[in-house]
Amino acid sequence: MAKRIETLTIHGGQRTDAQTGAVMPPVYQTSTYAQTEPGVAEWEYSRTHNPTRSALQRSLASLEEGAHGLCFASGMAAIDTVFRTLRPGDRVISGDDVYGGTYRLCTTVCAPFGLDFTFVNLSDPDVEIPAGTKLVWAESPTNPLLKTCDIEALAEKAHAVGALLAVDNTFATPIFQRPLTLGADIVVHSTTKYMGGHSDVVGGCIVVRDDALAEQLATLQNSVGAVPGPWDCFLTLRGIKTLAVRMQRHQENAQALVGWLEAQPLVARVIYPGFGGMVSAVLETDLEGAKRFVKATEVFTLAESLGGVESLIELPAIMTHASVPPETRSAIGIPDGLIRLSVGIEHIEDLKADLQAALAQV
Ligand code: PLP
Repeated sequence: MAKRIETLTIHGGQRTDAQTGAVMPPVYQTSTYAQTEPGVAEWEYSRTHNPTRSALQRSLASLEEGAHGLCFASGMAAIDTVFRTLRPGDRVISGDDVYGGTYRLCTTVCAPFGLDFTFVNLSDPDVEIPAGTKLVWAESPTNPLLKTCDIEALAEKAHAVGALLAVDNTFATPIFQRPLTLGADIVVHSTTKYMGGHSDVVGGCIVVRDDALAEQLATLQNSVGAVPGPWDCFLTLRGIKTLAVRMQRHQENAQALVGWLEAQPLVARVIYPGFGGMVSAVLETDLEGAKRFVKATEVFTLAESLGGVESLIELPAIMTHASVPPETRSAIGIPDGLIRLSVGIEHIEDLKADLQAALAQV
């Protein structure tokens, strides 16, 4: 019988250790494995395979309802691997307010190798995917404007021109959205964020259903070698065990803060997609006032990244999206004073009191 997502976070793709019965996979801190005969071994070398990494890969595949999971040393390494399946001249249609690091990878690393990127608003229901497109790259919700797109409709449009749809599901997590079940071909995560959940490990993953695509990605994973170490895989797997309960609390706190923020006279606009733990806001102040605000919080730490148990606050224009040129930021509607909150799982009254005190400093 199909298991529910809360059960899959703990058991999906997992089995107890055959030798000892250990309920968590051991950290196989080894680079190589003894062979019984030259060239005969189940495991050969840890860039290619590692049992702790395999346990994490199975967990991620199960959560996203995919058939194959592949882990990488960071979310960026996972995204880069997806782009490496393309060839010079191939056309990619990407969302326009993707994570700044993704935008930088596209424009400064992949474009010089001949990939042809066009950035469009994928939230527009009338968006067109031109003939000749090989890949559609979507984030939903986006970072930092938290725009969502209709994954089912985008998958249909992509497939109609023979393109694949890849979705960066970092913000939603499989608790709130499973893109492969909506027609997407590739799901990517920065597991650094909600998956790991404790701000103590950097990682990334790709999940797919198609066997041939998985084979191509595994060849890239092994050939390029941007793989995570076993200890990082263990930490990520440990974090995933509590993903469902953490996401529930992240969302409860975020929803309570949205209502509270909207009632504050100094808050001009609150952006929230209706689910999840990320909230963006614009204050009735200039950039200097926004800087005073983010420096004044105490429970919310002024830091990049997101998705950990602790609340974080940041100014995208100066921090996570500084790599996006100012004219591009303003064209896609990221104001300099936009504040992004990664709402943690602390007590909601402490979060409100913290923001209230910081508003007084604006
Ligand atoms: N995708 C999204 C949506 C992100 O927010 C980030 C990082 O902030 C990344 C990808 C990149 O992940 P990493 O920092 O693990 O390389």
